[in-house]
Amino acid sequence: MIIPIRCFTCGKPIAQDWEEFEKRSKKEKTNDVLDSLGYTRYCCRRMFIAHCEIIDETMQYKKF
Ligand SMILES: [Zn+2]
Repeated sequence: MIIPIRCFTCGKPIAQDWEEFEKRSKKEKTNDVLDSLGYTRYCCRRMFIAHCEIIDETMQYKKF
């Protein structure tokens, strides 16, 4: 839905880098982007790789 603020496993703040990751990963390799952003632990890397941004689709439906 929305990227979690912190990594679930180690607690490192990750949400501040989501927009840059999303923008750059369209052009560059995902692994290279994560390396240059400084995410070396695989728990943090999976937060980016496994995240699915569906908030815009969800917002189309009316809240009851
Ligand atoms: Zn982590």
